[in-house]
Amino acid sequence: MIIDKYIVIEGTHKNPNKIETLNSKTRKIHGPYSKSKAEEIANGLIQKNVDNFYHRAWVVKQDIIQNKVCEECNAEDESVIQNLIIHGYKICKSCNLSKTLFPI
Ligand SMILES: [Zn+2]
Repeated sequence: MIIDKYIVIEGTHKNPNKIETLNSKTRKIHGPYSKSKAEEIANGLIQKNVDNFYHRAWVVKQDIIQNKVCEECNAEDESVIQNLIIHGYKICKSCNLSKTLFPI
């Protein structure tokens, strides 16, 4: 049986509905935990920061943040994780931009 490991990412956001707007200076990572424990921690953090609209906590699978390598150019970059969360594939900022500008 594979036990999934989950982490909780918290911080303030420009847009609290979008994980990619998280301010990296405020980012804190907790875990890894089991999925239910991670959700419990995330809910606790959200409750604790209920007065701060821009503060949010997210539950993310741990393996996502362990692999920051872009599938297009093999470069390691923070934006790979953000794009994986947003678009569902591992791509860095610059490859994503060139794809957007010149769709294949
Ligand atoms: Zn790339």
